[in-house]
Amino acid sequence: MKKSKVVLVQCTSYDRTAVEAAVAKGMNLLGGMSKFVKPGERILLKPNVLAGDPPEQCVSTHPGVFRAVGSLVKDIAGEVSFGDSPGYGDPVQHLKSCGLLDAGKDLGLKVADFHKGKETAFKHSPFTKRFLIANGVLEADGIISVCKFKTHMLTRMTGAVKNQFGCIPGKVKKGFHIKLPSAYDFSRMLVALTLCLKPRLYVMDGIMAMEGNGPRGGKAVPMNVLLFSDDPVALDATCFRLVDLDPKNVPTSEIGREWGLGTYLEEEIELVGDRLEALVNRNFKVSRKPFRDILPTGTISLIKNLIIPRPVIDKEKCILCGACVRACPVDPKALDWKRENTAKPPEYTYRRCIRCYCCQEICPEGAIFVKDSAFTPVGWS
Ligand code: SF4
Ligand code: SF4
Repeated sequence: MKKSKVVLVQCTSYDRTAVEAAVAKGMNLLGGMSKFVKPGERILLKPNVLAGDPPEQCVSTHPGVFRAVGSLVKDIAGEVSFGDSPGYGDPVQHLKSCGLLDAGKDLGLKVADFHKGKETAFKHSPFTKRFLIANGVLEADGIISVCKFKTHMLTRMTGAVKNQFGCIPGKVKKGFHIKLPSAYDFSRMLVALTLCLKPRLYVMDGIMAMEGNGPRGGKAVPMNVLLFSDDPVALDATCFRLVDLDPKNVPTSEIGREWGLGTYLEEEIELVGDRLEALVNRNFKVSRKPFRDILPTGTISLIKNLIIPRPVIDKEKCILCGACVRACPVDPKALDWKRENTAKPPEYTYRRCIRCYCCQEICPEGAIFVKDSAFTPVGWS
């Protein structure tokens, strides 16, 4: 049986020479960039840009890793573009603030159109059959996903499989939280989207990773590693093992294997490069409990409301920016300014809240936490 290959390369800093050497080593061990890119092709580099925070906050793919991968791609491809659709706002502005715009321009890469997209049918998709896909993605012959090693409150971790969600432009992404409030269904959609878009190669920036209250409000911690694979499920599973998290406790793993996107089973993965055991961080802050679904769509909302961990604002940390209110996808909003008073933190109306955690995801201050309610069964979160 052919195994999925995942390459691990230790890299302890974002020093330009060190990152370029580590990326070159990783790609050589995976068979070289020419295995994934042919001369003359139009290749899209898809970093993770949740928001334009500075690189040291670890919210986005680091520009150094992006530049090193982009340089290898540019040596072969005819045209290389890059982009992502962040959680809110203008994609190019976010690229600029997190340093990726300058990195791409240094290499002479083209900024891809992630403002708008086209409704695209994928009749062989095992789940969602139609996605609005950004024009910049549709115009490329192939995608290289340059993802980030981070925690995530809805899907537990974000990595190679989840990175393709940013190929859906703008506010359309919010709609998926309304349609798919179950974390399992949301994960099914993520796996289906990755099956539809079929990136050729995944490179994960785990030199610094985000633990705790990710994907934006957590803490940056060194994991000192870059991962490379053409199997996103195997790459993610290896990332999870690096933090002593059983891949079975992240829903995209089993769904991804069941639908043929890849494998999370150790016996089906060939690890190459530096030893995994030497890079493991068992103190990385992430929930390692069995994953509990946020109850299937249609479950009586009263039960949901009582059981499922809820987002809570730490009023001391809140800077009253309103990003969480703008991110809330339900109508009327489940999080809003009370009597339009923006001088105090917004307040939740939990009976309307679908527990998508978009508010927690987008808060720039890490002021929103997900907490058990008094009725959350032990072991749920
Ligand atoms: S996003 Fe965070 S900082 Fe901004 S208003 Fe909401 S809780 Fe406060
Ligand atoms: S309040 Fe937060 S978790 Fe609840 S629906 Fe709105 S964005 Fe989602």
